[in-house]
Formats: sequence, C-alpha cells, structure tokens
Amino acid sequence: MIKTRFAPSPTGWLHIGGVRTALYSWLFAKNNGGEFYLRIDDTDKSRSDQKYLDSILSSLDELDLKSDKDVIYQSQRLDIYIDNVEILLNNDHAYYDKIEINEKTKDTDLSLEFDNRLNKEGHVIRFRNPKQEVVVEDLIHGPVKFSNKAIHDIVILRSNGMPTYNITSVIDDNFMGVTHIIRGDDHLNNTPVQQNIFHALGFDIPKFAHLPMIHGTDGKRLSKRHGAVNINKFLEDGYLKESVINYLAKTGWSHGDQEFFSISELKKLFSLNKVTKSSAIFDYDKLNWLNQQYIKKMDLNDVAKLILPYLQTHNLSDIDMAYLKNILSLGIEREYTLKEIAKSLVYYFIEEIPYDTDDFKKFNPSKDNLILDKVIKKLSDNNFEDEDKLGLCFQEFCQENDLKFKDFGPVVRFGLTGRLKAPAINEICFLLGKTRTIDRLNNFQIFMSNNAVASNE
Ligand code: GLU
Repeated sequence: MIKTRFAPSPTGWLHIGGVRTALYSWLFAKNNGGEFYLRIDDTDKSRSDQKYLDSILSSLDELDLKSDKDVIYQSQRLDIYIDNVEILLNNDHAYYDKIEINEKTKDTDLSLEFDNRLNKEGHVIRFRNPKQEVVVEDLIHGPVKFSNKAIHDIVILRSNGMPTYNITSVIDDNFMGVTHIIRGDDHLNNTPVQQNIFHALGFDIPKFAHLPMIHGTDGKRLSKRHGAVNINKFLEDGYLKESVINYLAKTGWSHGDQEFFSISELKKLFSLNKVTKSSAIFDYDKLNWLNQQYIKKMDLNDVAKLILPYLQTHNLSDIDMAYLKNILSLGIEREYTLKEIAKSLVYYFIEEIPYDTDDFKKFNPSKDNLILDKVIKKLSDNNFEDEDKLGLCFQEFCQENDLKFKDFGPVVRFGLTGRLKAPAINEICFLLGKTRTIDRLNNFQIFMSNNAVASNE
C-alpha cells in the first residue's frame, strides 16, 4: 500500500507552500488507495513552540488533511534514534568526531540537552558516507546525480545529545512504512545522504518526489513580502477550504485547462507526473477570483451561516438570518473573502451610517437636500411591498421632476448606505424597508445641513 507523510517542524506558522506539500502527499496517497500520515519534527526544543504546533494541527484539520494514523512526535522517540545511531556506530557506518574549537556550527553547543548513553563530551557522531556517486531517482525531476564530493559526513548526533533531522527522518520514514516521500525541493540536497542512511540501516529506500518551490508573481520565493503566506491568515480571512485546496492543487499541477476541482475529483485525477518541474507561481488575484466564484456558487443559507461570525466582529447583535440572506441575494460583486464581504454589508445593520466626508464632497448639499425632500415625500406614498414597484416609483420620480437618475440616484444611495458603490437603490430600499429607508434619508439630510453650514462658515 502507498503511504505518504507530511512532516512539519513546529518552529513557525504553517506556510501556504507547506500546505501544498501536505495536499499533494495526501492526494497522491488517496489517488492510489493509500494512507497519509502526519509527523511532527519537534526535536529542536529551542525553536519549537506549542502555539505553532496547535495552529499547524488545527489548520490541517480544517482543510481535512487528516492523518490516517495517530500523529507521531519525534520528541517522544529520542531513545529509538539513539538505538539506531548505535547500530550505525557498531557497523562502522558512523564515528565520533571531536569538535573543533573554532567550528562555527550548532555542533559546538556543549550544553547537554538529551542525556543518552552515546554522548561523549566534546564530540559529535558523524555518519560515514560511502565515497561514491549517488543517484536520486526523483519522480518529478528524473534522475539527479550527486558526486561524492557533494556528500559530506554529516553530524547525526550533536554534542548536546540530540539526533539531527537527516537521521531522525530516515528512521521514522522507515518506521512509518512511508513508500513515497513527497516534499519541497529544498530537501533534494539532503536526499543522497538520506538514501545512504536508509541503506546503511538496512531499510528499503522509499521513492522521492521533490516539489518545485512556489514563487510570487515577481519570480522570487513566496514570502511575506508578497502578501499573507501563513495558512491561518487565509482561513481567518474567510477563504473557503474548497477554494484554497482547489487553488493549491492547481499551483504546480494541472489537468488540461480545468479550473474547478472538487476534492473528490482531485482524489481521482491527481498524479505526480503532471506536476511541473519548474517553480509554480502563487497569484493572489487568481485565488481571490476563485474564492469569490466558490462563494457565489454556494447556497445562500450556507453563505449566511459562514458570514455571520464575521459580521458579529463588527459589534452587531441579533442578526436576522432571513434579512442577511436577502442582502446576500443581491450578490457579492466586488469582495472576495468572507471577512471583506461581511465588512461591506455592515451598513445594512447599523442605525447610524458613518458618512465619509471626503466622499460627501462629491455632493451639493443645498441642491441635494431639496431633491431628498422630494424623494422622501415620494417614498412615503409607497408601501414598500414590491421591489419592482419601488423601481417604477423612482422612474416616475424622474419624470415628475424632470430629473435624470444621476441627479438623485447617487445621493440617495450614499444617504442610505454611506457608500458610493452599492446595489440599485430600489433593491436597497426594499431590503431596508420603509421605516429604515425614510429614517436614513432624514438623518442624511441633517448630516448634509450640518456639513453645508460647516462648509459655509
Ligand atoms: N521537518 C522537515 C521540514 O519541515 C521535514 C522535511 C521532510 O519532509 O523530510 O522541512
């Protein structure tokens, strides 16, 4: 059976590139009827942090990239690593090396962190690399040759007693029965040594697939400079897990021109031989578009439920779900995350609309106040029971007063919403209902009068 794993270190937030590695490992396993495991590489105590661990676990969980077996923690397996280092020592595949006093490596760290029977003061243990070329048959890059000059006798046990990544990873990948190691190609250079360690310990060598890095649109490795890279930020801002998964699946893999993939389709279609050899580009605009498409396709009840907690962050209580659903039915043309959508809808729920004085400058208070008098009067005669009839009412208003829509539409919209861009005014009036509509327009008239006075002083 095919077994893959994702092995993050809890030394930082989970990068979106790491999520893609987890996703490809998960998809490859599922596509082949196999299993996916999660391992936490937490041997570096000084850099590991519970908050990072919690957030890695919760975001993978939220994305449904769940381990098929209990999560393995390397920090709980230190004795097993020592047993294996001892085997290597006994078979002459490893040796003690005295630390040079001027060696500027972590190995000069003499304070003991893990007291074990192999520790020898002032010494590290190195793996004795066979002096021969190593070929990594990578499933994405093809055969990659490493001359013996490129492979060093790496430290496998530090002088502080802690085993290092290359040995712990090999021991665990073997213990977990991993058949395919899928990871970022920043680890390609570690692979020849790891293959040698697998061999020296008498383990089967798994297959390797090194994924090209994700770059920003400027061609540089994706980092904070480009925007959010921490998966939590995306999830918190209200990117849907479906669109994140869809987008990441497409970042370095393709299936013809198809843009939209459900999770079950991805499980059916994913294959490593369609993964690009060159770096993939992370395009925030494309992700935003995709997220918006997913939200637009969702059932309004579900969108309303998802938006609710975001609206509540704006100190809104007692939100009427039917009202919210009606608002959402007007569409979400411009915004693309749940957070932004919620923010753009706050004006429907508040009593006092905050008017931006800069935007307000576009209006002419003395003229517009007179127009609003007439609009209010006209609307007072309408029962607000039919959205189309409200539309007709505004048309009649134009004719009766010999006005064009642009003469009063923008000021009514701004008065009702505090925004220059918002849905059609008959739609807004219908949603708000008669009382709120008239109240808002009256309040706006007061605001206009005050500001007109202020600007005349
Ligand atoms: N803990 C390592 C990392 O986060 C795992 C690398 C691997 O997949 O072998 O880079």
